[in-house]
Amino acid sequence: MPGGSDSVKVAVRVRPFNQRERNAGSACIISMSGDSTTIKNPENGSTKTFSFDYSYWSHNGSQENEEGVFIPDSSNKYTDQRRVFQDLGQGVLDNAWQGYNAALFAYGQTGSGKSYSMIGYGPNKGIVPITCEELFKAIETNNDKTKQLQVSFSMLEIYNERVKDLLVKAKQSPEGLKIRQNPQAGFYVDGLKNVPVRNYKEIEKLMEQGTVNRTTASTNMNATSSRSHMVITIRFNQVIRNAGGESNTRSSDINLVDLAGSERADSTGATGDRLKEGSAINQSLSTLGNVISALADIAGGKKNVLVPYRNSVLTKLLQTALGGNSRTIMIAALSPADINYDETLSTLRYADRAKKIQNKAVVNESPTDRLIRELKEENAKLLAALGKGGGKTADSEELQRLLQENESRMADMNKSWEQKLEEARKEWERGHGISLEHEEEHAEWRTVPYFTNINEDSQLSGVVKLCIRVGETTFGRSATATHSIRGLGIQDQHAIIKNTGSKVTLEPVNGSKIYVNGIKLKSKEELPHLSRIKFGSSCLYLYVGQMKERKPNEEKGYDYDFFMAELAEHRGVALDLQTPRISESMENLKSYVIFQDFMDLLPQISEANAISLELKKGLKFEAEIKTNEFQPQQAAKEVQIRVTNQRNKKVWVWSRDKFLHRKDLMEELYCKFMDGESIPQGRDKDPFWDPVEDIFLGSCHVMLQSLSYCVETDEHFTLHNYHGREEAVIKVGIFPLDQKGVHLGEESIVEPRELLGKPFSYEITIPEAMGVRWCSEDRSRGVYCKFLVNQKPVKSDTVWGKSYCDFNLMYQVKEKKVTHEFINYLQTHSLVVELWGTQVNEEDQLHQTFNGNGVNDINGDVLSQLKNKELEIEGLNEDLDTLKKENFNLKKKLDKQQQQIDIKRNRKASTGDIGLDADLAQALRLFFREVKTVQGQLSEIKEYAKVSQHGSSDNGNIKQALGKQEQKLQEIENKLSGCVTSLKDSVTNTLRKAKR
Ligand code: ADP
Ligand code: MG
Repeated sequence: MPGGSDSVKVAVRVRPFNQRERNAGSACIISMSGDSTTIKNPENGSTKTFSFDYSYWSHNGSQENEEGVFIPDSSNKYTDQRRVFQDLGQGVLDNAWQGYNAALFAYGQTGSGKSYSMIGYGPNKGIVPITCEELFKAIETNNDKTKQLQVSFSMLEIYNERVKDLLVKAKQSPEGLKIRQNPQAGFYVDGLKNVPVRNYKEIEKLMEQGTVNRTTASTNMNATSSRSHMVITIRFNQVIRNAGGESNTRSSDINLVDLAGSERADSTGATGDRLKEGSAINQSLSTLGNVISALADIAGGKKNVLVPYRNSVLTKLLQTALGGNSRTIMIAALSPADINYDETLSTLRYADRAKKIQNKAVVNESPTDRLIRELKEENAKLLAALGKGGGKTADSEELQRLLQENESRMADMNKSWEQKLEEARKEWERGHGISLEHEEEHAEWRTVPYFTNINEDSQLSGVVKLCIRVGETTFGRSATATHSIRGLGIQDQHAIIKNTGSKVTLEPVNGSKIYVNGIKLKSKEELPHLSRIKFGSSCLYLYVGQMKERKPNEEKGYDYDFFMAELAEHRGVALDLQTPRISESMENLKSYVIFQDFMDLLPQISEANAISLELKKGLKFEAEIKTNEFQPQQAAKEVQIRVTNQRNKKVWVWSRDKFLHRKDLMEELYCKFMDGESIPQGRDKDPFWDPVEDIFLGSCHVMLQSLSYCVETDEHFTLHNYHGREEAVIKVGIFPLDQKGVHLGEESIVEPRELLGKPFSYEITIPEAMGVRWCSEDRSRGVYCKFLVNQKPVKSDTVWGKSYCDFNLMYQVKEKKVTHEFINYLQTHSLVVELWGTQVNEEDQLHQTFNGNGVNDINGDVLSQLKNKELEIEGLNEDLDTLKKENFNLKKKLDKQQQQIDIKRNRKASTGDIGLDADLAQALRLFFREVKTVQGQLSEIKEYAKVSQHGSSDNGNIKQALGKQEQKLQEIENKLSGCVTSLKDSVTNTLRKAKR
């Protein structure tokens, strides 16, 4: 369908569950029927359906053939790579032959299958390789001698708004390649290698090398690739010579774009952070979103819409692909799992918007001579302009540059294709030391032990193989190391490996950070085959041993998730959280999402800590789980990050989103630091800085139930923090008051319904707190307590620097008229008392002293003291690791015992002899008080009886007494049955809670 305007074609594809999701017992929330895709909300079962050009089911129904290629099984519902190529790639190719530009994007969250569709894995080749392969197949069968077919290949990466040429091995300037604009070509990357290729093998080689370059030159952060965009461009020229010797060039650019993970495209602004500015890391992706929205609006007939192409590098480069001369396809990759519902829904919405975009593709064909003539004419104009302008203004510099560019273009056109191919071959061999033509079948790693890299992105895992020859091999930042590796927390000399030919040992250098199979390596140790190794804070390797130890396919299971789970397990963190999902209940799902959040944050936190250390910021980051105590039954938990300034002991608590936002900014800062650029000064740009804030320390719940019986509470309560650790003990009193505002005392016990319709007042007192850890740890800190009554916050004064605090807080509450709701409220709610920590602002000046370049001001003495302290901390951390390991084992044992005890306790609960919890105790106390009242009433009845026996024989009197007795007895009966029911309820409640 040439000419006219056509809309962007959109396909969605859902992948199989990954191991993680399978382990978690995830449910599949995607279903497909024809071209439409339906997503189910796991929370309420509601569904949304979208229709696309293609909906590809690749979730199940596949089988592996002998070559390891996944194809549909007998059910024939699985969409394989071939089929995706046939639908999407073939069209791109056909377009290219006709001289149309084409573009293909893969969009979706990290791990959703973008690279699988675009590039593929092993024998399951994706669209890019198949398209290239098919292109050359067609070229090779071309017998038309008047047609010369030329293919060239380029590959670049955009990270942090910088463009890196992936076909260049040598270190590139940190600012990356420049984006320029020219009237003919639009935006283009200045100086990008565009390598002429003669067959598919060469493209395969180039892609391989590009992937290696992407892996090794990444900015030391493990997750870099998920935040970067990869653009492969295949330029296909057909030079057609006619009888008269004139030539026509028909050209097509095929852009194949593997986008960054979509999960944090809109992380800016939503965090409520003081630092509003988004990081450049997200800029391209969020701008792409805005461009697509704007284009969809235009297609929908909206007027005066500005399309913000110029706001990011990616959208500049893709301007033609998105908004003009191109046949464009988007493939949106979907995760099938319920835990990814939000992300997947937003991917579907994005794809839905993209399909509205209209493009106008035109055939790029023109006589070669005309192109040269046009360039000549333009150069003449440029020269004239230069002559007029004179001088060395910025303008004339730009003109000069354009002139040169045009000239080199003309020179290029005059070169024969064969010449270009030959030049490319030579340059490649010079630059990469390997031949584009010959296969290196006898790679060294086949016979020698080696380290292979493990990356968060499975596309980049196993790409680098570092051989361990017989003798000594060293790892480190230093250029003289055998394997020079960059990365956070990597020392100049990091590790020494000795290979005796049969045995391989690994040794840390100067306390360098090395973990082997999840455990910190303290001294030289032998490396078993398939050891998992972590250098510094994020360099992961799998060690593959001697030839005789290897077995086919044994490395498969050791992926990034395996490494992370192993590291977490040895730190004892995963245990509190890992709740295997026995059922599909919401509660289970939610806590599983929290668990995943927590696990995903661990590597980020370890990187943030390493950056803080290298930039001398002195901050320590720790993830913790915040439980919402108001609704423990709803598992209303979230992950938060505790930030501690290790020098002045100030503490902050960041939300997960805020942390991730800050982490992006830290990464940006660190990249600048590594590239030797100046780091912006001042707090308003410092992701490590925040003003001091108050910190939640702990809370306790005081049941209001007794108040509905006019029974006072006056007790000590333990305040627990989010980890369930005791922070302090606080005394809380709740006293019912009489009309004059005096405490009613023991005698006042009533039945709740007796209060109805009457005024009621009570007093809450918090006289003191004891054993306040926050203050005993650092005397410059203070605390206050607060609670909410009738939606109103009540706060004590702040007490500074004492672990015993006199709050002397007294607060009276008056209810004008007691209602059923009020009674109900008292009987079902608690007063939540919170303890908050405050910190002085003196950290201002301290912070500056320690802030990076301020270090010069500190004398050497202080510095060496700091260094020693850091070493001490490191030592303590190691001890802690050992303890945690022990703890981990003990906890397992304890859990088992606890279960047994729980079972026993539940049995004994009816006899009430051990382990009564506070609620139960409270309920029993009320019960006994009630019984006391009943006893009192019984003795009253006895009095009546005495009166009626010994009193006058007046019939009337006896009748009256009997009537009273009857009435009293009725009351007693009611009361007793009420008591029993309420006790029964309390006990069941308590037991239910205990079971949870
Ligand atoms: P992304 O590039 O979006 O981060 P990947 O393409 O690397 O994600 O996919 C993540 C994992 O899921 C890989 O291990 C890949 O093999 C697997 N995967 C993705 N899509 C499919 C599919 N259609 N069939 C089989 N496996 C898939
Ligand atoms: Mg990928």
